[in-house]
Amino acid sequence: MAGDYRRFPRRPEPDFVRRVKEHVSATGEPETLADLFHDKIPKDLDFEILSKINVPQRKRPNGDFAPCPMCVPNKFLDGRLCWFPAMECVALIGHECADKVKSIAAEKAWAREQAERTQQDFLLEHLPRVPAMLTALEELRAVAVIAVDLYRHFRKKAGSVHRDLRHIASTGAQLTVAEKVWDELYGTGPTAFRGSSGQTRSVSFGVLRGTTAVKANFDPTRDIDLARSRIQPLRCEATDDAVLDFILSLDDKGREMAVGFIREAERTFEKALAAIKDFRNFFEADNLKRIDAWGAHEDAFNPVKIEDRRFLGKREVYITGSGSAALLTPDPVLWSFQVRWPS
Ligand SMILES: [Zn+2]
Repeated sequence: MAGDYRRFPRRPEPDFVRRVKEHVSATGEPETLADLFHDKIPKDLDFEILSKINVPQRKRPNGDFAPCPMCVPNKFLDGRLCWFPAMECVALIGHECADKVKSIAAEKAWAREQAERTQQDFLLEHLPRVPAMLTALEELRAVAVIAVDLYRHFRKKAGSVHRDLRHIASTGAQLTVAEKVWDELYGTGPTAFRGSSGQTRSVSFGVLRGTTAVKANFDPTRDIDLARSRIQPLRCEATDDAVLDFILSLDDKGREMAVGFIREAERTFEKALAAIKDFRNFFEADNLKRIDAWGAHEDAFNPVKIEDRRFLGKREVYITGSGSAALLTPDPVLWSFQVRWPS
């Protein structure tokens, strides 16, 4: 029996590992694989995990567990295919077998390898799209610049309205007015003239949409620029060879960062896109109408007036309130742009 097994002076290739997996999942019997080592293995040997392999119990002739070469007669179903350099052999052992310290070291190395593989696969898929990502970020930036211009004009010229609406946005975004209720509604006589000591009731004009437009700060271009600058160095030729060479040129840290930057670039893109879409919702006709009705109420805290009109084919939004006035011309591009993250 001893000596029958296959010698592995070096760590076996992935192809061998794949064949073992196929055999075990087909038969449930690792002990019938002649290439593996089935005699006793000392518990304190160094080993490297090649794969985690589960033994399908229903495939086993007696429905039992598989024998473990490391701790006979213990048996297992959750196995680890391991290479033992000192013995130049490969064996399938139970997932809880082996010396604890050796096992922890092997599991750590395995986790590292898995992470590395996941990162490499991610980069193989995503690196060829970096040029398209940069284009998408640039296109979105151009739209963001238009939105930020409009935002700044609004905030600068109609500051008081901007602030009042920001307060509404931060307190539930409900456009409500505390309407004074005169006592005559409830009764007659002298008590009808209590004036300012009278009660109020809340009148609602609906929800304020597009609260991004009244934030204290709105500028997605900075995040977009940062994302661009971070994925710029990841631009490489889109051929398989060039991508692979690039990935192999990265060390652990560089690979991790490349994955992080690409993920972050996508998050930045989606976040900026959502912010721009929310921003433009403010300028939807029905939203402006609600704000105008809210600001026109006689008990409004500060009167606000919004005119949404067309002038020589151009849309003009004229916002006035508390001595400030902004004449805004929202660019139709904010509604017509089509930018998508490459996938
Ligand atoms: Zn065992």
